[in-house]
Amino acid sequence: MKQLKLRAVIMIILSVAFVCGLAVFLIFYAVEGSNWALFPSNSHIYSNGTIVQAGKITDRNGKVLAETKNKKRKYNSDEQVRKATLHAVGDVKGYIKTGLQSSYIGELTGYNRLNGIYSYSKKGNNIGTTLDSSVCVTAMNALGNRKGTVGVYNYKTGEVICMVSTPTYDPENEEEYSLAKQGEGEYKGVFLNRFLSSTYTPGSTFKLVTTAASIDTFDDAYTREYTCNGGVMIDGEWISCLGHHGTLTLKDALAKSCNAYFSQLAADLGEDTLTEYAEKAGFNDTFKMDGVKAKTSYFNVSGGKDIDVAWAGMGQYTDMMNPLQYLTFIGAIANEGVPQKPYMVDSVKTQSGIPLKFSFGGKGSRMLETETANEIKELMRNNVKQTYGTWNFPGLNVCAKSGTAEVKDEKPHAVFVGFNDDEDLPLAFVVVVQNGGSGAQVGGPVANKVLQKCKEVLK
Ligand SMILES: [Zn+2]
Repeated sequence: MKQLKLRAVIMIILSVAFVCGLAVFLIFYAVEGSNWALFPSNSHIYSNGTIVQAGKITDRNGKVLAETKNKKRKYNSDEQVRKATLHAVGDVKGYIKTGLQSSYIGELTGYNRLNGIYSYSKKGNNIGTTLDSSVCVTAMNALGNRKGTVGVYNYKTGEVICMVSTPTYDPENEEEYSLAKQGEGEYKGVFLNRFLSSTYTPGSTFKLVTTAASIDTFDDAYTREYTCNGGVMIDGEWISCLGHHGTLTLKDALAKSCNAYFSQLAADLGEDTLTEYAEKAGFNDTFKMDGVKAKTSYFNVSGGKDIDVAWAGMGQYTDMMNPLQYLTFIGAIANEGVPQKPYMVDSVKTQSGIPLKFSFGGKGSRMLETETANEIKELMRNNVKQTYGTWNFPGLNVCAKSGTAEVKDEKPHAVFVGFNDDEDLPLAFVVVVQNGGSGAQVGGPVANKVLQKCKEVLK
């Protein structure tokens, strides 16, 4: 009897150990399985460490951005298209981590997580994107030889029409590729998709967040006055302004981007309120596009003095925005406070056209009250009428805010954000030109060129 009992106990221990081991294996398999099979020594899909066997990646018009032909990965036949869509598509070695050829490698090669084998056709699955390659080319050329990024999306549907990052290179040009790998000079940071993986000082574009906080906090937000004497003294430190604006109210202060007005306003709002509104706008939160994580925006004035809160309320201090997060926030202003989440992967289909995955779009969480969003929209429209010039955006109904973001020891970044307030062409945009100078003078024309192209090609 005693022996039987002992045997039973041993059996139970062995069974438990077996089940635990199996569970551990299954967890590892689920998490790491695709990595095992996709390890570059797997000759089915990689040749000399280069991805060869994978499906097509197309733009919104079915134009092929990358495909496998004769066991070789080929990009679009047009060099401009190759360069403009490189960061979205990705390189063949996986240096561009957020590119589809890295982040969607399982879907592209047809690796099945459940059975651990590849699709029978051995051609992988096709990915259809929402990008318009001709708009991407326009954006790339508008940035020219300057580093930066342009993101444009439909704020009603979430479709990303344009996502460009510069510098870029031609993935089919061996010479350029080896320069890119060295990453020196003009190729510095070439594998980084600045739209997803960078953060920038927002500069005066952050005054939109401070404006939202003011509208919700102060009953007299619109009549509240502050005086600009070419700047203002706070905590014994002089904050200078580009103009000598005298006494003004919110509407004029935003259109003139008066530093004296916004620094006093921010100090009066205080650290808690400003932090609350920054976080509602997506700061300190990690955004994702198509499941791919972006770099987290940053806002922190805790324990700061009035002067720190003043600088933070003008998008300086330690503020850092991520272009995807900021585009989403602008989308929220355009869309009555609730943003549509930007997405680029429209479909993943087998070779025979069976859909495997649906897009990651959908509504994001509310960033602004409906009324607040609509009021900021009016103020942003007034910025264009009063300061940037409606003639600089012919045929469009642009609402915008510029930022000339001061960075240490270098020319400021030009930042220009906004949207076209039009049911037929509902597009929001973020433009960053690194060390470009004036936000409105440098970023404005880039935004206009890209929106004009959108107007021409999107129906
Ligand atoms: Zn001023």
